[in-house]
Amino acid sequence: MGKISNIDVIPVTIPYKEAFITAYGQRVYKDHVIVRIQTSDGLVGFGESAPVPWIHGETQLTISAIIKKYFAPIIIGKDPYDLEKIVHELDKILANVPIAKAAIDIALHDILGKILGVPVYILLGGCYRKKIPLVYVLRMEDPDRMVEKAKNAVKMGFTTLKMKVGEGFQADIERIKSVREAIDSNVKLRIDANQGWSLKDAIKIIKTIEKHGYEIELIEQPIPNWDLEGMSKITSISTIPIAADESVYSPRDALIMVKRHACDIINIKVMKAGGLLNSKKIVYVSEAAGIPNLVGSMITFGIGTIASAHLSAFIKDLRYASEHIGPLYLKDDILEKPVEIERGSLKIPDKPGLGIGVSEEKIERYRNRDFKEILWEEK
Ligand code: MG
Repeated sequence: MGKISNIDVIPVTIPYKEAFITAYGQRVYKDHVIVRIQTSDGLVGFGESAPVPWIHGETQLTISAIIKKYFAPIIIGKDPYDLEKIVHELDKILANVPIAKAAIDIALHDILGKILGVPVYILLGGCYRKKIPLVYVLRMEDPDRMVEKAKNAVKMGFTTLKMKVGEGFQADIERIKSVREAIDSNVKLRIDANQGWSLKDAIKIIKTIEKHGYEIELIEQPIPNWDLEGMSKITSISTIPIAADESVYSPRDALIMVKRHACDIINIKVMKAGGLLNSKKIVYVSEAAGIPNLVGSMITFGIGTIASAHLSAFIKDLRYASEHIGPLYLKDDILEKPVEIERGSLKIPDKPGLGIGVSEEKIERYRNRDFKEILWEEK
């Protein structure tokens, strides 16, 4: 069997269809890194890093440099079967940098699936569902615009919507009220404050939602990720389930949240977990604690999106819709065939590995040759 013989690291930049706004600010482009790993017997696996610099501190430039300089020498010559060992060695040489590690982990899963002739979800443990129900995410903007987009998403077939909020009590309550009242009660609505609220505001907003009886499926990361005492307090008083997102990167973070009763749901993202292997470990910590998972996602290109979808296929208790909708927000993708999203669901490919074809022509078209990244754009 072939060993890993080569890694290409390619910065790829694709524009949004429309600037994406959350509590953090706005973005016009997605600056990602694609890795192409080859084995000596000619197999190729693809991975993707989708950094959000102001959350994770990783950028297209740092990820490219780290993979080339530190990770590639470790991986070259290794047996792709040694996935655990390789991931462990990456952790040993460099702490954190989960987004850079995710690209390697995804590419190795892709190759391993191709060697064994099975889809990635089989490598993870099997398949509970081949169609993954999705949530449509509404960026934070004026209530009227959010209502309009919510209605469009429902027309597209989505039965769960997520609203980005996090500006503060008055503005957010108005948004929540407007969208909730404008859409059918059968459509689930969840809220993501992206750490934007203070503890006081979070409690006030939750009490107001409860008082008015607005049906809210769950609230994601109401307050800053480090405030676990605050997360515990909110979780204990809220009748609406509280999901930890930015508070959980690793299996250890998940364990800490469980011990502190600091959430009702753990949101796993393949990117922040550093890949599928660690995501799977978070699933097992959650399962042992009786806490359900939500499979979130950064806005990823097709490679990252399909990698996350394989995770959703394998989780037993997946009562919440997943977020594999990155390609819907972008002007183009680098896949040969677009990700199949229909009536609010994603159909998981069942070919070996990730089951996707990557277009070399599009990689060249969107290759960011001089690392012209724009880290921050004012709203
Ligand atoms: Mg979130």
